[in-house]
Amino acid sequence: MTTVHTSVVVPCFNESEVIDAFHTALIAALEPVGTTFEICYVDDGSSDRTRLQLRDLAAADPRVRYTSFSRNFGKESAMLAGLRMSRGEAVVLMDADLQHPPELLPRMLELHRHGYDQVVAQRDRTGEGAVRKALSQTYYRMVRRFMEVEVVDGAGDFRLLSRRAVNAVLSLPESNRFSKGLFSWIGFDTVSFTYENVQRAAGQSKWGGRRLLNYGIDGLLSFNMRPLRLAIHAGLWLVLSAVVYTLWIIANVLLDGVKTPGYATLITAIVALGGIQLATLGVIGEYVGRIYHEAKRRPHYVIRETDTSRAAAAGSATAHAAAEVREVVSST
Ligand code: UDP
Ligand code: MG
Repeated sequence: MTTVHTSVVVPCFNESEVIDAFHTALIAALEPVGTTFEICYVDDGSSDRTRLQLRDLAAADPRVRYTSFSRNFGKESAMLAGLRMSRGEAVVLMDADLQHPPELLPRMLELHRHGYDQVVAQRDRTGEGAVRKALSQTYYRMVRRFMEVEVVDGAGDFRLLSRRAVNAVLSLPESNRFSKGLFSWIGFDTVSFTYENVQRAAGQSKWGGRRLLNYGIDGLLSFNMRPLRLAIHAGLWLVLSAVVYTLWIIANVLLDGVKTPGYATLITAIVALGGIQLATLGVIGEYVGRIYHEAKRRPHYVIRETDTSRAAAAGSATAHAAAEVREVVSST
């Protein structure tokens, strides 16, 4: 087996409009570098022609490999499958929509040669809507405060990992994968550089507001226990304020004689407490849900076909056809 130096892992979900352009650009960027490379495409259960296109690409070029999922399992699972597939000394993760410019690859490989285990290409936010920009900046500020690992704004999944970094990522078994956090958790020497944000070449982004929000919550919860701690703090403060309030009422009674305090206070207290209890229960529920999810130990994805399974199937089909021909020949 020839050794591969560079693996490029590309998760694809309904990317049939751009995949060919992407592939051409990628090859054009990689060939001049002069490394031996492979491209690992992962079709995340696309409902368009993506799978067929990948199959053709793999058939035409032995440097191209692919895995196709039985349904859409999400980008995190697709990246995991790609990392597992990769054999290179350096592994680059990138999107198929040309938002991660392949022209940056030589620079990343160069930095890797200088000994960095993680090379991060970090995008700025040019050309993004003002609301989305503001929201994501707030989110990252919050994440930096709360999370135990560091996650940088704009440092997405366009990065190069050395073999040992890949092995470290693969050794983390959790099923709720938030790779931005995982990459930061494994450590190693990391270097990053900024590039100007590019709009998607064709097709549509799969990240609507709701999906992004859920991804954000996943990120916050998968890396720390602080929300639970926060709930405890809130509870303690409430108890304290209740004690102070009681003292104040007692003092009032002693100094001014008995007055019936309004029911408004009572209702407010009940509602506030009820709300906080519900929220806390929700937070605990989230964690319990995650434990339940992890405890099932389900695989991250189900594979429909890969280039090798496809080749084997084609091989046995031809063998089958040949046997039939022989049969026909012998019976005549
Ligand atoms: N992707 C995927 N599975 C999904 C959603 C997205 O594999 O369920 C891939 C998609 O094909 C693309 C990359 O992840 O290569 C980034 O997706 P997208 O461009 O939609 O995200 P955005 O750039 O808008 O954050
Ligand atoms: Mg994109």
